[in-house]
Amino acid sequence: MKPIYLLHRLKIQTNETKMNIDKLFASCKRELKQIGYGSKLHGNVYLSIAPITGTTLGRCINKQRIEIAKWIISLNDEILFKEILMHELLHTFPDTKNHDKTWKKYAEDVNKKLGYHISRCFDINNYLTNSNYSFATNLAGFKYEVKCTKCNKSYYFHNLSSQKIRYFQCNLMKCNHCDSNNFIINKWK
Ligand SMILES: [Zn+2]
Ligand SMILES: [Zn+2]
Repeated sequence: MKPIYLLHRLKIQTNETKMNIDKLFASCKRELKQIGYGSKLHGNVYLSIAPITGTTLGRCINKQRIEIAKWIISLNDEILFKEILMHELLHTFPDTKNHDKTWKKYAEDVNKKLGYHISRCFDINNYLTNSNYSFATNLAGFKYEVKCTKCNKSYYFHNLSSQKIRYFQCNLMKCNHCDSNNFIINKWK
C-alpha cells in the first residue's frame, strides 16, 4: 500500500499549497447542503492527500476516504480542487455506485444549481493547456510532451513506444485541435 498523507495528522507544508484545504472542503459540503443534499452527507468522510501520479486526480475509497492527488494540491487552483472534491463527494453518497445513473443525476444537478462542471472523466490534457505545463506534468509523472508546432497544443504521455515516436516524427499523426501533423517531442527525466 502506498503511503497516505493524512491531512489532519500531517499538515501540508505551506510551500506545497497556498489553499486552505479544510475551508474548501467545508465549503463544498455547505454548498451541497444548500441545494438539499444534507441528508446524503455523512459525517465520517475524511480527506487525504495522496501521492497519486498520472491522470487520476482524485478517488473515493469505501465512501469514506477521499484522496486527492498531491500534485493537484500543488497547483493552488481552488476551482479545480473544488471540482474534483465535489466529484468525489458525490461518490460518498450512500445511494451512488461508481458513475451510475444516480451519480450522474446528482452531478447534473450540482452542475446546474451550483455552476460546477463535474463529469465522469476529466480531460487533463485540456486542462493543462491552460495551466502551468511543465510544473504540472513533472508532478504528474508524465515522461513525454508532444507539442503541435502549429497551434502549440501539448499532449502528455507516460510512455511512448519507439514506433509511436516515429509516427510523430514522420508526420503520420494529426493534432486533434488543428489537424496539423508537425510535432516536437520533449522527454523529461
Ligand atoms: Zn468518479
Ligand atoms: Zn495543433
